[in-house]
Amino acid sequence: MLNSAGPTGGSIPTVLAAQRAAGARTTCVSAEVREDRLDRLIDALLTHEKGICAALMADFGYRSECQSRFAEVVTSIKPLRIARRSLRRWMRPERRKVDFPFNLAGAKAEIHYQPLGCVGLISPWNFPVNLTVVPLAGILAAGNRAMIKPSELTPATAELMHRMFASAFDAEEVAVINGGAETGKAFAALPFDHLVYTGGAGVAREIMRAAAANLVPLTLELGGKSPVIVSYSAELRVAARQTLFGKLFNAGQICLAPDYLFIERQQLEPFVDALRLACREMLPPARAHVDYVSVVSARHKARLTAMVDEARAAGAGIVELGPIVEPAGDTRNLMPITLIIEPDERCAVSKEEIFGPLLVIRTYRHLDEVIAHINAGPRPLALYYFGSDTREQQRILSETCSGGVTINDVIMHYTADDLPFGGVGTSGMGAYHGVHGFRQFSHARAVYRQAPVDLGRLLRPPYGTGFRKLSDLLIRFS
Ligand code: NAD
Repeated sequence: MLNSAGPTGGSIPTVLAAQRAAGARTTCVSAEVREDRLDRLIDALLTHEKGICAALMADFGYRSECQSRFAEVVTSIKPLRIARRSLRRWMRPERRKVDFPFNLAGAKAEIHYQPLGCVGLISPWNFPVNLTVVPLAGILAAGNRAMIKPSELTPATAELMHRMFASAFDAEEVAVINGGAETGKAFAALPFDHLVYTGGAGVAREIMRAAAANLVPLTLELGGKSPVIVSYSAELRVAARQTLFGKLFNAGQICLAPDYLFIERQQLEPFVDALRLACREMLPPARAHVDYVSVVSARHKARLTAMVDEARAAGAGIVELGPIVEPAGDTRNLMPITLIIEPDERCAVSKEEIFGPLLVIRTYRHLDEVIAHINAGPRPLALYYFGSDTREQQRILSETCSGGVTINDVIMHYTADDLPFGGVGTSGMGAYHGVHGFRQFSHARAVYRQAPVDLGRLLRPPYGTGFRKLSDLLIRFS
């Protein structure tokens, strides 16, 4: 089914044509227009707050309302407000240096940020509202129009987003196109001015191929296996509590979730005990799954269960932490947080991104082994280190590479809107959040104003000794 928010129905290319006709290629979009669009989105989110939580409850089977409200509404409003109050500053032309001798004669250089036009946005199911709205903060602040393709795996939320955007925008400004993978393919084949995709690396390859046909520039927000390193110098209780939080939030269905963890061999048992205690504290039996979240579908649960079974059969230690699930509401796809200790490297859980409430634990003797293990794999989206040894911290920062790093916690670098959020290598390309989103979705146009004095004559033939002397000077002093 092809839907579009607002009055412009019909095929997906028709929506893009309507956006273009309405001025998607407009190079000057005033601050007032941008502010108004951001205001409308903030109002729409607040109006639909309860509906968003209800739709996610329906889509996941069970999803903690507190987590839905926080992850989809609270953390979506903040970047919109930041963009709303900062965009005039971000839009200002930026002065840049001019080369000698033209600087002395009064030549000027500036960067002017222009809208790209119409930006396509393909969003995933794990935080369907947040991962649509947060990139939109940058897309709209930069003066663009947008077409959104939500994930079909969260259909109630996709339908709600269609209604929510239709209530706030004409389809010529922001349109929502709902449908499955075929719709996604047709969407990715459009000649957008920029395309943002958040999801898995497999689909990202198809999207890159489709975008290449039109030379559409891409922002790819992907995933990967994000490691946690627990140092000898770490406070085990803190490392256990924070790591577990990264696994229980959205039941680990987070691109930034800790995927596997390294702990010194002699610390393994006390660390597992600390994880057990942390789980009892955060998910006490009395509240059962109230503050927890289901795996999104039976298919995803079956994949995770198969991972555990395979690792167990291959000799890994399996420890179920909880929560203990009481039969209340739709709990079919709830899974306990499960530790998988020292799985065989050939198991799926060692190779694939987990994206669920399983945590692989590996032991180590020397930090060198840990760094070598991380560097042998694709560059992860995030990397976490727990410990107070600043020499180790420095080694981790300088000898590994990942999209982002949080030290002595997990996921928190995502919450600092002044930091760019994005991956590297197979965990993604391009970044957004705050001013980084504004710049990612703007064209940084180089503008040069020549000085009134005609110094350009120095570069024009016929060449004589003056030109040779200038070349010598430039070699010496540039
Ligand atoms: P997915 O790749 O299965 O689907 C995401 C979107 O792509 C959906 O809207 C879907 O309809 C669409 N799609 C599917 N096939 C398509 C095709 N051939 N052409 C165009 N579009 C197509 O991803 P997912 O399962 O929804 O998400 C899980 C992955 O996303 C994990 O790897 C996770 O780490 C990653 N992720 C990354 C971030 C981030 O910000 N870096 C955030 C969330 C999730």
